Amino acid sequence: MIVMTKAKVDVEYFSKREKEYEDWCKEHVDGYVFNHAGGKTGNVLHKVGCWHLTVPARIGTYTTRYPKYCSDDLTAISEKADEKSKPYDWRRCKACP
Ligand SMILES: [Zn+2]
Repeated sequence: MIVMTKAKVDVEYFSKREKEYEDWCKEHVDGYVFNHAGGKTGNVLHKVGCWHLTVPARIGTYTTRYPKYCSDDLTAISEKADEKSKPYDWRRCKACP
């Protein structure tokens, strides 16, 4: 019998679902948030807790401005970022904790 040691990790998608997005961040304090703004420079991966994700003027509009992909798993979110950023690239935020 093969025992899977790694549980399947889901990547959640939030677009114009601010409340659900905020709840996800509260429940996944060590999670990752991929901001899919598109273009050559808009695709950025943050950690939950980054100040970029809690700018007072932007609270309440995070998922309406740009869709977000969220996951606890860095590999899963990186693969999603690769897929969604095409034909461009994405980067890790340098300000993240
Ligand atoms: Zn960040």
